[in-house]
Amino acid sequence: MAEEMLEPIGQPEGAGEQRPAEERGAARAQQRRYFPRKRVCAFCVDKVKIIDYKDVATLQRYVTDQGRIRGRKQTGTCARHQHQLSRAIKRARQLALMPYCFRHEFVS
Ligand SMILES: [Zn+2]
Repeated sequence: MAEEMLEPIGQPEGAGEQRPAEERGAARAQQRRYFPRKRVCAFCVDKVKIIDYKDVATLQRYVTDQGRIRGRKQTGTCARHQHQLSRAIKRARQLALMPYCFRHEFVS
């Protein structure tokens, strides 16, 4: 049988869709959840096309105190920009503009 109607991939327009708070069955049990305000992607607001890996001041806002990249849920960044952001941060790390890790301690 021939596969019919392969859906076109790589449509970036609908990538940043945000779903309402109820996602999983477990979350439904507790009705009173903390509802954060609906966040929009800061890069989309500023109409940033390409995230600059040299712009450390901006990138710094998207990493934790430990130097880890913050997740999309925390920052509200859309899929497209989160992808660009993570690559920019990783690139900045390689150029030693940003740390991989803030401290080197023994973790037991
Ligand atoms: Zn965005």
